[in-house]
Amino acid sequence: MTDQAFVTLTTNDAYARGCLVLGSSLRQHGTTRKLVVLATPQLSEAMRKALETIFDEVIMVDVLDSGDSAHLTLMKRPELGVTLTKLHCWSLTQYSKCVFMDADTLVLTNIDDLFEREELSAAPDPGWPDCFNSGVFVYQPSMDTYHQLLHFASERGSFDGGDQGLLNTFFSNWATTDIRKHLPFLYNLSSISIYSYLPAFKAFGANAKVVHFLGRIKPWNYTYDPKTKSVRSEGQDPTMAHPEFLQLWWNVFTSSVLPVLQQHGLVQDPSTYLTVLSDLVYTLAFSCGFCRKEDVSGAMSHLSLGDFSAVVQPFVSSEERKERWEQGQADYLGEDSFDNIKRKLDTYLQ
Ligand code: UDP
Ligand code: MN
Repeated sequence: MTDQAFVTLTTNDAYARGCLVLGSSLRQHGTTRKLVVLATPQLSEAMRKALETIFDEVIMVDVLDSGDSAHLTLMKRPELGVTLTKLHCWSLTQYSKCVFMDADTLVLTNIDDLFEREELSAAPDPGWPDCFNSGVFVYQPSMDTYHQLLHFASERGSFDGGDQGLLNTFFSNWATTDIRKHLPFLYNLSSISIYSYLPAFKAFGANAKVVHFLGRIKPWNYTYDPKTKSVRSEGQDPTMAHPEFLQLWWNVFTSSVLPVLQQHGLVQDPSTYLTVLSDLVYTLAFSCGFCRKEDVSGAMSHLSLGDFSAVVQPFVSSEERKERWEQGQADYLGEDSFDNIKRKLDTYLQ
């Protein structure tokens, strides 16, 4: 099936982690369809290469630079930035039918049967079930529809400021005309619903096909400890995903995605921490004059990687990082490591 594809989207390296997990989960469950990711220029070159190892196509889209009706719409409605990028999925006319999936979704089983559905098929939104949730939908690429959507966006905007409001107004007969276009909720099970209707989750949740981590905190914002193979609980949002689903996301991340990120230099190897720490301890212990060089070397030789837990740090924006700094919570082993600070100072001095 080369003319049908699963399509996702990322505008930065953080969401790209989600895309990589989604793509890996689709492959693990033996999809026969193509995998496509739309990406914007904010994505780093290394991450683009990492995406290419899992996706058949990485398509760069730049609404700001397109000079077409998408650009004109953006000038008029600057709040629609990511939304307009998502609309690009209709322009993939090399495919006859596609399934769009948010970067924060995870596939638990083969869902190729979705391609038997017609545009626009989607599952109800848990917050307002007369609207569909735009995290998973079946659609048919068409330049005509793409331009109609852009025109619609520039004239009407979106009632929620995002793609879901826009698409629900455009495909406004979804709620009433054809029940086959209502995907079962199991194709877009949001973590919120588990808490809001627990008995239903207990009765039907075992058949979930796609989990959607919708909301502000995404799986990649958590800290994962590979030593204990668990997601760290401190600071965890209690309304967030069922912990088992979050754990599943991280299992796919560590088994299939982390090696790809390491290969492309996108995560620090745990041995880097060891080197940084041992250098620091060595310098301090030796320079204070209390220890003989030989003693320190002897002690250091007993250190092994196992003494340091190689923690996969959550992805935080520079804004959040600044806030944490100001609250005295520097990330000493990661982004704010001595090495990184020294490098920054060196660039200033130069
Ligand atoms: N997205 C993105 N960059 C952003 C925000 C969103 O690439 O800064 C894409 C990504 O594919 C994401 C989708 O748009 O999954 C919808 O956003 P999100 O999942 O955050 O919304 P929610 O499902 O939580 O309402
Ligand atoms: Mn989402």
